[in-house]
Amino acid sequence: MTAGAGKRDKGEKGTQGIAGHESRITSSLTAASVIGEKGRRVQMPKGQSKPGKKALMKVTDVGHSTMLIELAGLKILTDPWFTDPILGIVTHSREIGMSIDELPEIDLILISHSHFDHCDMKALARLNRSAVVIVPESKTATRIRRLGYSDVSVLSPWEARKVSTLRVTALPADHLAPECTYVISGDERALFFGGDTRYMRDLREIGEKFDITVALLPMNGLSFPFVGKLVMDPADAAEAAIQLKTRTVIPIHYNISLTIPLLRQLFERGAPGSPKQLAAELKKRNRHVRMVALSPGESWVCEQ
Ligand SMILES: [Zn+2]
Repeated sequence: MTAGAGKRDKGEKGTQGIAGHESRITSSLTAASVIGEKGRRVQMPKGQSKPGKKALMKVTDVGHSTMLIELAGLKILTDPWFTDPILGIVTHSREIGMSIDELPEIDLILISHSHFDHCDMKALARLNRSAVVIVPESKTATRIRRLGYSDVSVLSPWEARKVSTLRVTALPADHLAPECTYVISGDERALFFGGDTRYMRDLREIGEKFDITVALLPMNGLSFPFVGKLVMDPADAAEAAIQLKTRTVIPIHYNISLTIPLLRQLFERGAPGSPKQLAAELKKRNRHVRMVALSPGESWVCEQ
């Protein structure tokens, strides 16, 4: 079993493991010590309680920023992107973890913004229309309602709505398009979903207001000449993890490429961030943050 706050569903075969120092830091928090082996009373690490009292919290990497989250009995899909290639040129750089047909019935779809690698209308046309959809602006909401979804909410930063027992709070983001990041809270745990935001000062306030269990952070550092950086790079994501005061980071937004070889090289040069670099940046900062890099189709199960 992985030490600390979670385990993988498919063993330890993620693209990158946990940064070495974090592994040492969390090694005293094994499941046995948390449960209190043989009735021994143990001191719970901050924010943790006995396993078994809460519903499953599980994060599965479908691909890029498309993550399947199970929390408090609900199935949540973030930033759906399944169509390959999209616009005839943009494609996943690794195979996606599951097809639309393999997904369970989705209760909530969370969309950070309207860019095609986060809001795939063809995919949305095939998902469960009775799902609640949350978007950051009304144009996208109108397009999604036209597909037959009846419960579509537009949330501005710091607005929240309940979905069954969960509370979804929209939060600021910094990107080219109108975008929100989100915190999903439920079952005494909270998940931060970072879409593809740049680093921003608001992260500190978000970290003050929420007790974040796990943060899904973009980190490919996508940038273009004359435009600059559009997405957090590994150093930004490490800093974001510290500001958010999260205990676990799952890197997202690094499964994207182009179909045309020459353009692919240029694009990949402009989006060099990898989980390995994020692990190194976290190690440099010497904080109690674990990184769990998932391969497409692989899951992380929270043990807090
Ligand atoms: Zn974007």
